Amino acid sequence: MGSCGSCGSPLDIQTHIYCRACGAMNEAHVSEEGIICDVHTENRAVGFCVVCGKAVCDECLENQGNRILCGDPKHRVYLEEWRVLHTFDFEYEAAMLYANLEQHDIESEVFTKLNPDATESPVRPTIVEVRIPEKKFEEAKEIVKLLGLSGEEMEDEN
Ligand SMILES: [Zn+2]
Ligand SMILES: [Zn+2]
Ligand SMILES: [Zn+2]
Repeated sequence: MGSCGSCGSPLDIQTHIYCRACGAMNEAHVSEEGIICDVHTENRAVGFCVVCGKAVCDECLENQGNRILCGDPKHRVYLEEWRVLHTFDFEYEAAMLYANLEQHDIESEVFTKLNPDATESPVRPTIVEVRIPEKKFEEAKEIVKLLGLSGEEMEDEN
């Protein structure tokens, strides 16, 4: 184990590509050529947007506190006023939750991100997060419970 050099969150520096809490790249683990920015293909990415998971470089990253965001202004709102409800292994699982939330008039967004831990077995190249408005969290959690979904339930942040 270890901790993130940027935000101090627990992070396995041997196995994690980036910090899920703040989006910073774990430079100790990234290969020589690194990961390329999704916008500037000539630049090396320094981290990932904590909302959408897009790889960003120094030129296009935005900071919110000590967390990395891409340039999409909506993602700042998603970070401040929305939160992750559930994390899945596969997109179809997230799509099922999305559809159920929609039936209950709860807005949600699905983001597929690089799996920070690339050593897991079996290897899951990506993780899928379902994010919803903070004020709908309790209501949405009940829906997750009723559906009996697998995946990672998000704990209360506060
Ligand atoms: Zn961090
Ligand atoms: Zn983003
Ligand atoms: Zn860039």
